[in-house]
Amino acid sequence: MPLAKWKSVDAANPPKELKKNLLTTKYVSWKYEDERRVILPLGSLTKEGELFFKPFDHTLKLVEVIAGHRCCVKWKPLIKSALKDLPVIPKLIKARLAFRKFEVVTQQWGFEDSNAWQQCRDTCPRDRRVGHINEGSITRMSL
Ligand SMILES: [Zn+2]
Repeated sequence: MPLAKWKSVDAANPPKELKKNLLTTKYVSWKYEDERRVILPLGSLTKEGELFFKPFDHTLKLVEVIAGHRCCVKWKPLIKSALKDLPVIPKLIKARLAFRKFEVVTQQWGFEDSNAWQQCRDTCPRDRRVGHINEGSITRMSL
């Protein structure tokens, strides 16, 4: 996308083409995520505060949750609690940094093993919302 084209746009009222480009463009280094983006009208979504969500249903199923390498041990029960009412519990994975490469890999001890999780630190957020898994977690959904 030639960026010079958008150098002097009104940021408060960007052209439709720019909005589409921003919503459908991804940095090449994140290609491995195999992400799919679905653009939906806000009126079809559930609003919680300032955010809009597409509830899971027969058209959108959560199939995998990866707790990121910085996800501390306090998140294990919170993640499980947030998922407990789903009709099918997604695959749970704990990630860690690779020992010898610049890479994130699956923690082979498994999601349930407490040794797979780092201890909570002073820098851990105190009041994150549990329903929307954060702090380095990513989710994989099937459409
Ligand atoms: Zn913590």
